[in-house]
Amino acid sequence: MRIIIVGAGLEGVVSAWYLARDGHDVTVLERREGPALETSFANGGQVSVSHPEPWANPRAPGQILRWLGREDAPLLFRMPAEWARWRWGMAFLRECTPGRTRRNTEAIAHLAAYSLTCLKLLRGEAQLDYDAERRGVLHLFFDRHEFARAPERAAELTRCGLHASVVTRNQCIELEPALSACAGRLMGGLHGQDDESGDAHLFTERLAKRLAAGSVRFQYSTAVSAIRESKGKVAGVVLADPNGVFSEIEADAVVVCAGPWSNQLLAPLGERLPIYPVKGYSVTLPIVDEKRAPHVSLTDETRRIVCSRLGDRLRVAGTAELNGFDMAANPARTAGLLKWVEAHFPGATDTSASENWNGLRPATPNNLPVIGATRTRGLWLNTGHGTLGWTLACGSGAALADLIAGRTPQISGFPFKAAG
Ligand SMILES: Cc1cc2nc3c(=O)[nH]c(=O)nc-3n(C[C@H](O)[C@H](O)[C@H](O)COP(=O)(O)OP(=O)(O)OC[C@H]3O[C@@H](n4cnc5c(N)ncnc54)[C@H](O)[C@@H]3O)c2cc1C
Repeated sequence: MRIIIVGAGLEGVVSAWYLARDGHDVTVLERREGPALETSFANGGQVSVSHPEPWANPRAPGQILRWLGREDAPLLFRMPAEWARWRWGMAFLRECTPGRTRRNTEAIAHLAAYSLTCLKLLRGEAQLDYDAERRGVLHLFFDRHEFARAPERAAELTRCGLHASVVTRNQCIELEPALSACAGRLMGGLHGQDDESGDAHLFTERLAKRLAAGSVRFQYSTAVSAIRESKGKVAGVVLADPNGVFSEIEADAVVVCAGPWSNQLLAPLGERLPIYPVKGYSVTLPIVDEKRAPHVSLTDETRRIVCSRLGDRLRVAGTAELNGFDMAANPARTAGLLKWVEAHFPGATDTSASENWNGLRPATPNNLPVIGATRTRGLWLNTGHGTLGWTLACGSGAALADLIAGRTPQISGFPFKAAG
């Protein structure tokens, strides 16, 4: 089958891997000059199977109210809001009930665990090196009340077949000696032993190169302006060059992996996904003192900040801001991340040489991605991965290929549909 994939982020390139393995004739169209230059460029680096609970949970409404008006708040709903933001916000609140949180957490946990298995197989087969660390993710609790919930979270992960254990402050430091600088404030941790970390951009870039050396065609600087449909079936895509000249490519199937921009292509076909762009920030810092810098990937559960070792660099990422497609950097957010690094790992990095970035997460209200068919025959979706696009990429791509081939994905819950 001739398949066009729109978007060469994590989801698009990984989908290309699995579809090419099935023998399809795959073309990836990407409007940027290379792969993974948007949301997949500088994320937190965590393959975080141990964090399946979505932002939408029973504690979220209270937390968001407390954070209102704070420029450095972990989650910021900026006002005034357009209708799409309100609609997404209301759907988010509906997902905060205990029942829905449990259901969403379980679905994400199963996909994440499957995805990790797929990642291990893929990297072995493709021989990819992407500054990976396989030391788990250590969730840090600086708040007594949040740490009190750690046993419950560990039990939930165990129920989903994952390995996680509650660890004391001293055990945290045994696992990651660089934490001794902030040990005084630490209550304890939760160690997700299955987790990993690595550079998602490097992974995507190297995988794309590997695929391009084989049978997959990549066309960069190529924006898809529309998906063409005839009698309820996909016929191909329309491209527009910078001079406004239109051309067409025919296809038997089109897979939309356009991240937060997916709706722009789907709306003319009558499809609306509950995806809203949620802006996040990261800083990437050169390590100047090895002994003070962490190797284990960390999640600060109180500040919602993650930190991953990527070779000789430290990536620190976090925060969420709902403000449409606005990509302007908010200096307070970058400053908050840099302050966090200095407070927890003083002297470990050169903060003056920080590479600052922000990107838009393709977020659904319940953090479930949208993977599967649409009402238009031959039009497929693999998008809406929100906070977990790196963690879920390989499982999502493998499941998509299964669905397109008419096989049953090796994980329950398909087709995946986000609420909203
Ligand atoms: C600050 C931050 C930290 C994060 N940390 C983590 C983490 O630690 N672990 C984790 O699992 N996830 C994390 N994520 C989430 C993860 O990065 C995303 O879920 C993932 O990158 C989404 O990948 P994607 O392929 O869907 O989107 P993208 O990477 O944005 O790819 C979509 C591509 O489609 C292209 N495109 C769009 N429209 C068109 C068009 N019309 N024609 C052609 N091309 C088009 C775009 O140019 C883009 O390249 C984080 C995200 C952020 C912002």
